[in-house]
This record gives sequence, C-alpha cells and structure tokens, in this order.
Amino acid sequence: MLAEIKGLNEECGVFGVFGHPDSAQLTYYGLHSLQHRGQEGTGIVVSNGEKLRVVKGEGLVSEIFTADVMEELKGTSAIGHVRYATAGGGGYENVQPLLFHSQTGSLALAHNGNLVNANILKHQLEAQGSIFQTSSDTEVLAHLIRRSGYPQLKDQVKNALSMLKGAYAYLILTEKELMVALDPHGLRPLSLGCIGNAYVVASETCAFDVVGAEFIRDIRPGELLIINEDGITSEQFAFNSTKSICAMEYVYFSRPDSNIQGINVHTARKNMGKRLAVEAPIEADVVTGVPDSSISAAIGYAEAAGIPYEMGLIKNKYVGRTFIQPTQSLREQGVKMKLSAVRGVVEGKRVVMVDDSIVRGTTSRRIVNLLKEAGATEVHVVISSPPIKNPCFYGIDTSSKEELIASDKSVEEIRQLIGADSLTFLSTEGMVGAIVKTEGTEGFCLGCFTGNYPTEIYPDTLQYYYQK
Ligand code: SF4
Repeated sequence: MLAEIKGLNEECGVFGVFGHPDSAQLTYYGLHSLQHRGQEGTGIVVSNGEKLRVVKGEGLVSEIFTADVMEELKGTSAIGHVRYATAGGGGYENVQPLLFHSQTGSLALAHNGNLVNANILKHQLEAQGSIFQTSSDTEVLAHLIRRSGYPQLKDQVKNALSMLKGAYAYLILTEKELMVALDPHGLRPLSLGCIGNAYVVASETCAFDVVGAEFIRDIRPGELLIINEDGITSEQFAFNSTKSICAMEYVYFSRPDSNIQGINVHTARKNMGKRLAVEAPIEADVVTGVPDSSISAAIGYAEAAGIPYEMGLIKNKYVGRTFIQPTQSLREQGVKMKLSAVRGVVEGKRVVMVDDSIVRGTTSRRIVNLLKEAGATEVHVVISSPPIKNPCFYGIDTSSKEELIASDKSVEEIRQLIGADSLTFLSTEGMVGAIVKTEGTEGFCLGCFTGNYPTEIYPDTLQYYYQK
C-alpha cells in the first residue's frame, strides 16, 4: 500500500559508518535505500576526526545531497537520517541528525523511534535550566547526556539512556567515536555490518547490500555499542530487556529485501499470505496484491490457495510527492493518480485483493471501486494483519484513534463501508506464526492491534495521541 495516502507512516531511518574514507558517500547510498522510512527531511553529519560537519534539509536524499554538497562532506565517520515528521512536527530545526557543540566537544544524534516520556523529561530539564532548540523528542537525550555528572562520555550516555522510555534506535557521533543504542525492548530494527575494517549500522539490512557491507548481527535490546579507533565494545545499559520488535516492520514498513532478526521480510509477508489462504479460503478466479508492500502476501495467498496471481493493480511510479495532499478529497484523488486497475485482468472475474492493513478505510474503498469499475464481478478483501484498533506510541504515525476505522467498527461494518463482497483480517497468532513459525506471540510489539503495549504509556502521551 502507499504510505502517503494511507495514513500509516514510518517515522525514520538511520545509517552510520565508522572508519571508512568514503563515510559520507556510503551514508548517502545507505540513506537512499532507507528513503521509504521517511521522505520529509534528511541529514548527514560527518567527522574528520577533529570536527563535525552537518548538512541537512527538508526533502529527499537525492534533493538535499547534490554532487556539490557531497564534495564538501569529507571524513572517516558519519551518521545520517531520513525523517517522516510525527512527534514534534516538521520544520528544518527538527531535521536530524541534531548537532550540539560544547566546551568538551561536539555530539550529533540521529534517532529512529519515539519516546513516551519525552514531555515529562522536557519539563524536568526545563525546570533545571535547559532550553530546547527543537520540538523533537530526540533532543532530550543530548540534554540528559550533558547534565549527567559522570566524567566519561560512555557513562554519561548510559545514564541518560536509562532515563528514556519508549522506542529508540540512536546513533551518536562525536569527533572520535560512534555510539549505537537500542531501547530495552528493541522496538525498532537496527543492524551492524562491516566493510573491511569499517563498521556500518543501519535501520534495515537492505542498506548493507547497497553499500557492499557484510551483515554481522542485529543490535540487542538494551545494548550500547561503542566504536572507535580501538575497535568495538558492547555493554548492556538495561538488564531487564525483553525483545518486542514492531510487528508492523514485517507487515508493511521494511523493504522486502531486508532481514530483521534473521527473518527475510518478503518471506514473512509471503507466509502471512499463505496463512490467510488457510484462515480465509475464498472461491475466486484471480488474486491480486495492492502494490508494493502487499505483493509478497498476495503471491503467498495465491500459491497456497491454488488461484492464479495476476497484476490486477498497477502503480504509477512517476507521481511525485508534490501530488500528496493532506485533505480527504485530495487524498482520495491521489489514489486514482497512483493506482490503476488492469481491466484485461479483472474484467468478469472474482478477485481476491490482498492488502497489508486498513487504517482509515478510505483508500480500501477507492481500490475496491477501481476494481469494480474495471469489471470485477466480486472483490474479496483479505488483509495480512489484524485490525489496527489503537494508536502507536513508538514512532509510527497510525493516525489518531478516532481516525482508525477498526477502533469502533466491526469487520462487517468495515466491509460495508469499503464496499467489498467479503473482508477478512489475519489473526494475531497467524501473523506472528507467519513471521517466526512458532506458537505464541512473544518477542513482538502488537500494541496497535491488541492495545497491550510493551512499555508504560504516560497520560500526556495518551492525550496527545487521542486528540491529535
Ligand atoms: S504499536 Fe504497532 S506500529 Fe507501533 S511499534 Fe507496536 S506493532 Fe509497531
């Protein structure tokens, strides 16, 4: 499905390099492959061992980092960020990495995720004299680091991280070091790789393939990695860490060529489609997937159901971001510009339409309409995840609870609203089983489906998400 028109957006992606003469160039390529995680702003901070230099702006990686700009970014370590603005909103000042200077040196931060106690910490820090440059929750970490009384940066960072609650994959760059930290629940993906003696870190392993890096391992929940001239060291800053990786990374957000926790995303999606075929057997003539993220699940459904997979919907790849408008009517118009039904495939046919999720329902209604206008006699919608009934507090913009169609409507009510002949969602157990091939749902955050979140959620965070 198309993130921009669906109302389901990843917040960010991060990429970092230590110990490579082309660190900025590698970061550019890495960020380019993570562009699907955020298109509103991007930045790179590079270190030449003595100074940090930042270039950032609102726009796509290819728009901000022109050849001239890249010429100026020289150094052996770098961190980069692509941003979709949610917490704190947009604007240049919130584009990351954030760069801070002090008497003892500089520090740059890139963050993927969302803190659930950011407002509480901000109030406390402001009461102690901090002045924030941005409205982003990321800046809280910089203030906590600088206010920590420990003499060593490593201990300052560990102390600061121990105060944060929520989802965070942080890259912290100083003149001499790259630090990498993942929250105690490992909510967001973060992997370590290498190119020769240089280390690379990325939100998704697809970025490693692009820069020719070899995958080493995933960062562990509650782990702090410190990479410098002496090599790499690992420490746990949280000992009660329990893995709860975001299930939506497998369903929708990550690229199909990425592996998360050793599981290929395309394979997981294909297995979700296969599970759906078991949970929702339908008599139909063709199976089609909503491009791009539902194609894998549609292939799996077709394979398991023994129904031909066809390209019943095609995506217009050349519609630019400028067409994306926030209003409902323009959003609906956007669907027409972005997707077309293939009449030659669906006319006179009973169609199974596989999609990864339903957020507001408006997009699903438009796509069902497109297929029916193109002559489909029946459209059966099957969704490769459970109904999204609750907001996400961890960095995914799932719209407010009121906007989530499944928050107060039954499956039958949603079916009627989207005009489908039948509607089936994959069960929670079916989704997790398709990813890990084991019984039970441990190891995953399923908060937006079940309402059970792996961390405490604070009243002001709840208020923000329920009223935004
Ligand atoms: S609430 Fe949903 S989208 Fe958010 S981290 Fe959990 S599973 Fe992912």
